[in-house]
Amino acid sequence: MASSTFKYVILGGGNAAGYAAKAFAEGGAAPGSVCMVTREEVLPYERPALSKAFLFGDPPARLPGFHTSVGGGGSRQDAAWYADKGIDVKLGSEVTGVDVAAKKLTTAAGDSITATDALILATGCEAIALSRTPGSGLKGIHTLREYADGLELYDALKAAAGKKVIVVGGGYIGMEVAAAANMMGCDVTMLFPEANVMPRLFTPEIAAHYEAAYKAKGIKLLNDGRLCEAFLDDGNGAVKGVMFCKNHEKEEIEGQLVVVGVGARPNTGLVKDQGVDAAEGGLKVDGAMATSAPGVYAVGDIAAFPLLLDGGALTRSEHVAHARSSAAQAALAALGKSPAPYDYTPYFYSRVFGLSWKFYGFNRGTSVTVGDFAPQLATVWVDGGKAVGSFMESPSDEQTAAMQTIARAQPAVDVAALQKLVPGKDAAAL
Ligand code: FAD
Repeated sequence: MASSTFKYVILGGGNAAGYAAKAFAEGGAAPGSVCMVTREEVLPYERPALSKAFLFGDPPARLPGFHTSVGGGGSRQDAAWYADKGIDVKLGSEVTGVDVAAKKLTTAAGDSITATDALILATGCEAIALSRTPGSGLKGIHTLREYADGLELYDALKAAAGKKVIVVGGGYIGMEVAAAANMMGCDVTMLFPEANVMPRLFTPEIAAHYEAAYKAKGIKLLNDGRLCEAFLDDGNGAVKGVMFCKNHEKEEIEGQLVVVGVGARPNTGLVKDQGVDAAEGGLKVDGAMATSAPGVYAVGDIAAFPLLLDGGALTRSEHVAHARSSAAQAALAALGKSPAPYDYTPYFYSRVFGLSWKFYGFNRGTSVTVGDFAPQLATVWVDGGKAVGSFMESPSDEQTAAMQTIARAQPAVDVAALQKLVPGKDAAAL
């Protein structure tokens, strides 16, 4: 049982932790002053790859190929990078206790690591496994959050080629995993209760386009009120299907492999009841990502931060762009560099079946569909006469820049004029 002390300690080894390490190194933290503690056995990596190139790349992406910060345009932070920067990384170290007032971590192995200046909490989320649903412990049911989950899922999907796979959930992880399973030769059914895929972002028109692409590939959609009620046992402790329910009618579908992609829950339990203010299911932070506890910062998925673009409303964002920028913000603040208040632009993206969409801003107010996917679909959300968000399939760099500008400037728009734009031709106008 060892005990050690560092100026700066990062708890977690995911997307935000990797970018925090980068910002500490670039901000001049002295070699030997930063320590990262993570339960994963691998150095921080770009987590979104797990449901994309990791599953369906040819060849599939594997570490060290996608360590941070390749996705954010920096050099790859592999073991040599951490050694060069003098950052101590404790892999495979589950933190079981946090003493917030002392900024001290205790690991499952009984080691303790104390921060003298700043503790950065970057524990992310855990996948919701539907563990209260009967049969949830059966073999063959997967969730996807960490590298080890990804390796298991990849092997299971390979072995399931030609077999029936059920994906529970119609959000981006469900959509990406369903696409991967289909590409790996599985017979895929998606099961989710909402009226369309990506219900929190997609309008029915946008969803219809992606659903048509999925159906054309042979993926079946069982949605519109259908809830997963139980996982079915094959008699040998493995899953053989799912029972679902719609309007009190129960039905069963067959599946030798089930992937549950129904969302994630912030990992904040370690600091519960220690005077760290909570908000939005995460930890409340200010514009420097500082929590209410002195010297303790929260970044990435767990941080509930003031979103300046939305009048400072406390917001949590489970997205990689925020993980990167919030981590950099906290590191700069911890280094005493007083960064300007965090000013984030909401951004989501996904890539499936050669399709690739982006969204910037807010999806509230009235949605105006521009174009018809021939050549390109765009949707703009108009709230109070202002364009507040936009979505595009396969935007060019110029169009992406225009979408960012719309989200930031929120220009006044004339809905009728907007409807007449052709996104392929009028990129600048858009
Ligand atoms: P994480 O990256 O989850 O890192 C948390 C780290 O903390 C993990 O390493 C974990 O092991 C460690 N940890 C937690 N508890 C402990 C403990 N007690 N002791 C030690 N270590 C601990 N976002 C997008 O914007 N676009 C996408 O296309 C996209 N795709 C995604 C696909 C998948 C499959 C997943 C899972 C997420 C995806 N996301 C995507 C979301 C994005 O990856 C997250 O928002 C981002 O990873 C958050 O970074 P984080 O550092 O806060 O959390």
